[in-house]
This record gives sequence, structure tokens and C-alpha cells, in this order.
Amino acid sequence: MAIAGAAGRMGRSTIEHAVDDPRFEIVARLERSEARTLPECDVLIDFSDAAGTMEWVEVCLKRRIPMVIGATGHEDEQATRILDASKAIGIVKAANFSVGLPAVLKIVQGLATELGDSYDIEIVEAHHRNKVDAPSGTALAIVEAIQDARNEPKTEVVHGRSGTSGVRPRRQIGVHALRMGDVVGQHEIHFSGPGETISVRHTVHSRATFAAGALRAAAWVVGKPPGMYSMGDVR
Ligand code: NAD
Repeated sequence: MAIAGAAGRMGRSTIEHAVDDPRFEIVARLERSEARTLPECDVLIDFSDAAGTMEWVEVCLKRRIPMVIGATGHEDEQATRILDASKAIGIVKAANFSVGLPAVLKIVQGLATELGDSYDIEIVEAHHRNKVDAPSGTALAIVEAIQDARNEPKTEVVHGRSGTSGVRPRRQIGVHALRMGDVVGQHEIHFSGPGETISVRHTVHSRATFAAGALRAAAWVVGKPPGMYSMGDVR
């Protein structure tokens, strides 16, 4: 397999785990400078950044190499291009490769439908000071999961508040991004209503959690038909 973003935090962690895993042989550790030079490989894991993904999508599409995309922060246009590419190659894309996140999404969807609109939903995410995109891809995935559960794709989402922000409208979703220290990744989802608040918190202790999930996805996607897959599809 090849890894894009090999010298980054996630790239290094993924390589560290892959070298001890008999399923994998790393044939390319790709960084910015080697962009577009890719030896024969069965799968490419992308932990670069949004722009990096777009370069490697074009290469993988041309060479028919399946991808695992872990990089986040894609603009709508970039996401559409990735979706297009998945008509020709298998792509597993996830903003959060941890084992627990799909369960968190289910719990949050249950709470959102169960509690109804007298409960305000606020999401607070925290990441290390070097993270370049905000809010996190995971926070966006949580918003999308809530919108899906409520069947309201266009719910108003506010990113932080300041000034005279006015009375909070019902069903608005607030999203707040903390950037501090060396926090690997934390998401809190608060449901606050009359007389009570229910909070769900997911904390990732180590990048090893993400690396293990990305490797599981990489082993799975080889030989799969073209398509856009999520971690829910990966067995
Ligand atoms: P990082 O900045 O430490 O590493 C990114 C690396 O990519 C850098 O070494 C950079 O030089 C390299 N790079 C940039 N452009 C490239 C290109 N065109 N080709 C090859 N390499 C290129 O960042 P990080 O903390 O390792 O995170 C990387 C990405 O993964 C971010 O988008 C982050 O949000 C995301 N992430 C996803 C998950 C997940 O579970 N899906 C978990 C953690 C981080």
C-alpha cells in the first residue's frame, strides 16, 4: 500500500502500525514533494489534507487504485469530485476511523429523535493546536447524522456565537471548535432542555485508534467494486 501524508502525525502513526502487520507492505511513503509519483500498489491511504486528497484522487482514478480517505476539510466541490471518482474505484471515506464513533452517531440520532425540539443541541469539539480545518470533519458528520435522523437536511447550523446573537431558534445546531495543546480529538454533544442536560462525549486517547481503523478499511477495500463506502460498510 501507499500512504499520502506519510510524514504527518497520522501518516507516521499509520506506518508505525502497518510495518508490524503482515497484511501490509508499504511501497510508497508519499509527501508533498513526490506528488503524483506512485509505484504499483493495491491501495492508497490518504492522510494528507483536502488539497492533497484531490491530487491523489486523480492519480488513483487513472490507475484504478482503491483509496482510503482520512483527510478532512474538503469543500463541497472537492467532495463532489471524490464522489464522482467512486464510480470507478472503491473509496472508503471517514472523518473519524475510531471503532466507537459509529455507535456514538447512533446514540446521538436516537436522542435527537426521542427528545424533539424542546432540547437544544450544541456540539463542542476539541483538537490539538496544529489542526488546520474547523469544525472537524467528525463534528460535521455528527451534524449530518442528526439532520438525517430528523429528516431535516437544512437545519440551521451556527459556528460559534458573538455579539447580539439573539434568542436561540428551536432546532438550530450550534458547533464550537476548540484548538488547544495536543488534544488528539474530543467531541461532546449536548442536548439541553427544560430542567436537564444530556451529554455524550467521545474522546480519542491516541492516533493509534485512527490508524487501526484506516488499516482495517485498507485491507477491506481491496477487490471491492467501485463505490463510496463508510466505516459502517467495513467488516
Ligand atoms: P499533518 O499536518 O501532521 O500531516 C499532513 C501531512 O500531509 C504533512 O506531512 C504534509 O506535508 C503532507 N501533505 C500535504 N500535501 C500533500 C500531498 N499533496 N501529497 C502527500 N502529502 C501531502 O496532519 P495530521 O494530523 O496527520 O492529519 C492529516 C489529515 O487527516 C487532516 O485532514 C486531519 O483532519 C485528518 N485526520 C483524520 C482522522 C480520521 O480518523 N479520519 C484522524 C485524524 C486526522
